[in-house]
Amino acid sequence: MTFADLGLSSEVLKAVDDSGYNTPTPIQEKAIPVVLMGRDVLGTAQTGTGKTASFTLPMIDILSSGQTKARMPRSLILEPTRELAAQVADNFEKYGKYSKLSMALLIGGVSFADQEAKLDKGVDVLIATPGRLLDHFERGKVLLNGVKTLVIDEADRMMDMGFIPDVERIVSLMPPIRQTLFFSATMSKDMRKLADKFLMNPKEIEVEAPSSTASTVTQGLLRVHKREKRPALRKMLSDDAVKTSFIFCNRKKDVDILLGSLTKHNFNAGALHGDMTQSHRMETLEKFKSGEISHLVCSDVAARGIDISNVSHVFNFDVPTHAEDYVHRIGRTGRAGQEGNALTLATKLDSKYLDAIYKTIGKEIPAIELEGMEEIVAEGKEIESRGRKPKSEGNSRGRGRKPSSSDSEEIRPKKNTRPKRSRYAKDEDDVPVMGLGEHVPAFFNIPFRKAASK
Ligand code: AMP
Repeated sequence: MTFADLGLSSEVLKAVDDSGYNTPTPIQEKAIPVVLMGRDVLGTAQTGTGKTASFTLPMIDILSSGQTKARMPRSLILEPTRELAAQVADNFEKYGKYSKLSMALLIGGVSFADQEAKLDKGVDVLIATPGRLLDHFERGKVLLNGVKTLVIDEADRMMDMGFIPDVERIVSLMPPIRQTLFFSATMSKDMRKLADKFLMNPKEIEVEAPSSTASTVTQGLLRVHKREKRPALRKMLSDDAVKTSFIFCNRKKDVDILLGSLTKHNFNAGALHGDMTQSHRMETLEKFKSGEISHLVCSDVAARGIDISNVSHVFNFDVPTHAEDYVHRIGRTGRAGQEGNALTLATKLDSKYLDAIYKTIGKEIPAIELEGMEEIVAEGKEIESRGRKPKSEGNSRGRGRKPSSSDSEEIRPKKNTRPKRSRYAKDEDDVPVMGLGEHVPAFFNIPFRKAASK
C-alpha cells in the first residue's frame, strides 16, 4: 500500500514525499480513507504510531475547499499538552506546505495578542490545549460554531489531567453536525463512555500499542540506596555510549535540584517541567534537539509524544509511580527503529511500583550492575554522613538541614517561575505519571554488566 492509494490530493502526496515517507503506517492506512469519507473515528493508538499524520493529512484535503471567517475556525484539534499541540502544528506546516491553509496554535504561556491577531484574520485549523482555548472563548475572541472537524487527541491523557469537563464544555459550543475524530492510547470503559458522548456512528480503528514495537529499547534496572542515586547517575552519564538522554524525575522540584547537581558536576544539561514558562520550555527543547544540550532532566510532561530522534538513553532517576508512564518515558529512545537504552534506578521503596510496571510490560526489567559501585556506595555514605541528604530522592519530607550555596550535593531549586495559571488549565505535572524487550544491556559494555542473579 502506498500513500497514493489512500485518496489524498497531489499537494498532500507531494508534501508526504518531501518528508521521505513512502509507506503509510497501519493507523494511516486505516484512518485516512475513513476520515476522507467524512466519518467519525474512534481510534485506539498511541504516539509513535504515525497517528498525527493519520488525521492531519486528510484534514488538509477536507479543508482545502471552503472559506475562513474571522474568529470562526473551521476545524479544531485539542491536545493535552503544549508540546503535543506544537508538534501537531509542525505537522500541519510540514504536510500543508503546498496547500494554502491558515493555522493558529493556542497554548498557554504564549502571548494572547499574537494568538488573537491570527484568530481575527480567520483560521482553517485551530490547535489548542483546552484551558487556553476556553480563556480565548471567555474573552470573546473565538467562536466555535463554525467548527466542522474536531479532533480530540490523547483523550486518556486529557482524562488523567482532569481536562474532560473543559473538553465537554468546548464540545457543547460546537455544532452537533460535525466530523469528530477521537484518539486515545487506551480504550477503557470510561473512555468508551466518553467517546459515545462525542461521536456518531464512528468507525473503530485500533493499532498495536508501541509497547510491542519498542523491542529496540534495551532496558536495565540498577538497584541502589537512595543516597547513591546521584553518584550512580553521574557514573552512567559519563559512559561514552551515553550521547543524549532524557532523565526523568517524578517531581518538578526534583528536576530543578537534579539539574543543579548535574550542572555543578559539569554535565551539559537542561530541564523541562510544567512550572517553566512556555518560551523557556520551547527554548530548552530546541537546544536539546539541536544538540546544544545533551541531557534533559524532566518531569513526565516530556514523557508523552515528544518526538526527538537519536536520543541514546532514557534514565528513570525515579521509578514512575504509574506503570504506564514507564512505557511512555522509555519510548523517548529507540524511536523509528533506532537502538535505544532505558535505565531505571530503583530503591527498596520502589518495589510496588516495579511490580506494577512488570505487570504492564509483561516482564521484569533485567538487573544490571555498575562497575565502580564500591566508590558510589562510599560516596553516598559520605554525602549522608555530611548531613547532606539528597532531598530529591525517595520520600523526602523536607527534613535535614537547609541547603547552603556551598553544598555540593544539595542544590536549592530555583525560585518558582510558575506562569499565571489559567482558571481552567490544570498543571500538566500534577498528574501522576507511564518499555520493553528482554536484552542483556550490551551497551553497558564497560561500566555496566549484567547482574549475576538477584
Ligand atoms: P506520531 O505517532 O504522529 O507522533 O508519529 C511518530 C513519528 O513517525 C514522527 O516522527 C513522524 O514524523 C513519523 N512518521 C509518521 N508517518 C510516517 C510514515 N508513514 N513513515 C515513517 N515515519 C512516519
